[in-house]
Amino acid sequence: MTVSLNSKLPGFGTTIFTVMSKMAAEHGAINLSQGFPDFEGPQLLRDRAAWHMAHGHNQYSPLAGVPPLLEAITETVESLYGAKIDPGAELCVTPGATEAISTAIAVTVHPGDEVLIVDPAYDCYDPCVRLNGGVPVHVPMTAELEVDWAALESACTPRTRLLVLNSPHNPTGGALREADLQALKRLLSARPMLMVLSDEVYEHMVFDGALHHSLLRDPALRDRAFVVSSFGKTYHATGWRIGYCIAPPEAMKEFLRIHQFTNFSANAPLQYALADVLRDLPEHHLGLAAFYQDKRDRFLSLMAETGFRCSPSAGTYFQLADYGALSDEKDMRFVERLTKEAGVAAIPLSPFFAEDPGRPWVRFCFAKDDETLERAVERLAAFRPD
Ligand code: GLN
Repeated sequence: MTVSLNSKLPGFGTTIFTVMSKMAAEHGAINLSQGFPDFEGPQLLRDRAAWHMAHGHNQYSPLAGVPPLLEAITETVESLYGAKIDPGAELCVTPGATEAISTAIAVTVHPGDEVLIVDPAYDCYDPCVRLNGGVPVHVPMTAELEVDWAALESACTPRTRLLVLNSPHNPTGGALREADLQALKRLLSARPMLMVLSDEVYEHMVFDGALHHSLLRDPALRDRAFVVSSFGKTYHATGWRIGYCIAPPEAMKEFLRIHQFTNFSANAPLQYALADVLRDLPEHHLGLAAFYQDKRDRFLSLMAETGFRCSPSAGTYFQLADYGALSDEKDMRFVERLTKEAGVAAIPLSPFFAEDPGRPWVRFCFAKDDETLERAVERLAAFRPD
């Protein structure tokens, strides 16, 4: 007898990141699609992980995380953002930032509750809302790819419980500015039932001297927010799957109530290793913006010789590119040809919109060795789609 299951996510296929990485591998293409570095993180981090595994740190971590990592995160967010958090009441380490995002959504969303999602949006927000019986309300950015605060305001109803923000932004490479935070404050002050999920996993990659406007900087915003970050991005180790969430005590209590049953805790030895490096090698995270700005600039100067048009990313390790001068094909078709015929994989933008605006946009990941970027752009420059 076959089992018949009624899907909770009908209509959702495999994520575009998995689809494109697989296509890249099948065709031997240079993979600038799924976001991950092709270089290693600090040697000290890997040495410390091996050390902790060899020295008995292999049993369950406390459910909110191991004490040295909780302390190191607390010190880091105070020195970066001036936020004094209570690690015993406002912090939880999670197996990847995705788990932090899904738990924050589970905490706030009851059946029928509405969640505002700004499109284009990272792909896990909408399905997590649906899994909790919530209703995703997609609000497109402006034509300039900025958050449309007036549209968000009009989309609010008495059922709106959560607004999902993401800065620096994946997939656009944009970043919130001071004026955005002022607009957010106005939106929240009139709506006591509304919370914010602030996905800040690219927090250390903001370019051209700009500040990362973490919601942790402002006590009034912090009181209403789940702030999520990721060590995978910061330490070039996306496969380690360690992230964390900071939230006000009442929200964190509920977060832990769910987390203890869905995950219990994150990988212990890697948490100890991260604690060592966060404390002993601050120059790593403090130098990340300059490191990636250099990569962005190298990528942009190479791309200037191609038919793609780019306006420089403000943050993340992604660069949006407009292929309108090269082809009028749909983005899915275009990335397929780019992978198979040019030998370079990229991410199309349409999967990040509830309603496809039909723009000729693709996303490239520039977290790659210079040599990889050079080879990739050489292929892009030679690509003649027609
Ligand atoms: N965050 C990565 C990206 O945007 C993908 C992560 C994943 O594949 N789940 O490319």
